Amino acid sequence: MAVGIWVLNDQLDLLQAALGSCRPKDARVVLVEAEATLRQKPHVQKQILFWSAQRHFVEELRLQGWTVDLLEADGHGEALSTWQKDYNITELRVMEPADRPIRQAIERLSTKFGWTAELNWIANNHFLWSAAEFREWAGSKKQLRMEFFYREGRRRFDVLMEGDEPLGGRWNFDQENRKSPPRGLKGPEPIWFVPDRITTAVIGKLEKLQSLHDLPGNRHPFNWGTNRDAALQVLENFIKTRLAGFGPYQDAMVSEQPTLWHTLISPYINLGLLRPLEVIKTIERRGLEQDVPLASLEGVIRQLLGWREFTYGLYHHFGADYTANNALEARAPVPQFLQELGGSGMGCVDTVLGELKASGYAHHIQRLMVLTNLGLLAGIEPQSLTAWFKAHFIDAHDWVMQTNVVGMGLWADGGRLGSKPYAASGRYIKKMSNYCKTCRFDPTKRSGDDACPFTVLYWDFLARHAERFRTHPRMALMIRQLERIDPGELQAIRATAAGFEWAKPGQPQCS
Ligand SMILES: Cc1cc2nc3c(=O)[nH]c(=O)nc-3n(C[C@H](O)[C@H](O)[C@H](O)COP(=O)(O)OP(=O)(O)OC[C@H]3O[C@@H](n4cnc5c(N)ncnc54)[C@H](O)[C@@H]3O)c2cc1C
Repeated sequence: MAVGIWVLNDQLDLLQAALGSCRPKDARVVLVEAEATLRQKPHVQKQILFWSAQRHFVEELRLQGWTVDLLEADGHGEALSTWQKDYNITELRVMEPADRPIRQAIERLSTKFGWTAELNWIANNHFLWSAAEFREWAGSKKQLRMEFFYREGRRRFDVLMEGDEPLGGRWNFDQENRKSPPRGLKGPEPIWFVPDRITTAVIGKLEKLQSLHDLPGNRHPFNWGTNRDAALQVLENFIKTRLAGFGPYQDAMVSEQPTLWHTLISPYINLGLLRPLEVIKTIERRGLEQDVPLASLEGVIRQLLGWREFTYGLYHHFGADYTANNALEARAPVPQFLQELGGSGMGCVDTVLGELKASGYAHHIQRLMVLTNLGLLAGIEPQSLTAWFKAHFIDAHDWVMQTNVVGMGLWADGGRLGSKPYAASGRYIKKMSNYCKTCRFDPTKRSGDDACPFTVLYWDFLARHAERFRTHPRMALMIRQLERIDPGELQAIRATAAGFEWAKPGQPQCS
């Protein structure tokens, strides 16, 4: 009888539950570096991060006394089958994957390759709320709203509380955190890392593979941290230089300032290099010690204790069928300029895509108000856009993508996550960014050659979905604005929209 522990590539934490179920002398650990994953064409920086972080974790495990094998293979199935036979593994422990399709894929591999070991799933301990706890909270509530879940999380984990009341007497400081960027706004320099020996070797390995598999993104410069020590430095740097300023410009977008005051911790926390409660408690304690504005402190805690846990909880609560949602009947394919990471001709889109190409990162408002806003207005098919996001973002995993892209970004779930679609015209982008300054399109124009595609498509979107939204409590006002447009102008708007070859959403069948 021999126990094996398979550590998946987003479970790189010495305290993860499968490792915690054994002592180092009682089990053999395995990790797999499978080229098969390249068939999904991930951004090359995402792949460098994943493989390098795994290799670093192998070294960390060995230092802790574990016997570890890193299998460099084409696929997982055969490599793990041979490994089980070689070491006579009879039980294979795996921590429950956060992503639903991964568990299904592992179960399929076990059957297909006739694994000798019995699979034993250990409950995932990388989130503060387990799927079962979330289900209990959701109970029979008609509407699941992040705000109420977040308040429950504040109480449950005693974060920014004074007894039963929120610190400062308010739960939410969002209204103070939506400032437009003034001219010349600059955030603090983030901390980046020079690739070490291990990362350099991975970059070398991916040199040939990138062209072979046609992976998007720039390989150089690669400046992400790749182990827990670096991830802790990123957290420390955030607390020292960015936490106090996190709130006010959280929604701002500025050219050549891709990170502003954002934390940049999502790639690390999603791989297990940082633990959610340690991050939240450290930010809370240090923020209070440093006397940072409560709006900033609450703002970042809301993202981690609120949004992050909420999206994970919803993903499991809604179940596998959620991926089939397409409430707005969007049918357009992903435009070529998204696939090529540039070439749209729109200042905002090309700026965000250029930054994405360079690092695999874009901040929340760039993702929501530029990329998925475009997808929503242009009617891009939800799962095609989700797959695009999943491939191109450094921090992308199925559990976080589905709810963010399908629910928050595209409103394809018909409002199960967000009460109204985040549809915005070019005027919003002009207000919250400096992208329009050098753009050839005019965000105030809604038809004609120089009309901003966001503005054109915004009105076209409302016209396409007028029936659905006419009685919607939070959209009815916009439909009334639409109906005040002169019919001749509306026709011109719709003709301009029809001229965008990349935006062919198909006609919705509204009842
Ligand atoms: C269309 C779309 C796609 C997204 N895809 C991803 C993704 O693939 N991976 C991912 O981790 N996040 C995703 N997000 C959520 C959010 O945009 C990123 O977590 C954030 O931009 C990461 O950068 P940061 O670490 O600097 O975050 P900050 O803005 O500094 O926020 C701090 C942390 O809060 C958490 N967080 C904030 N908002 C969310 C959210 N809506 N859902 C989940 N966690 C959140 C993250 O862990 C993040 O690191 C997506 C959002 C949208 C609208």
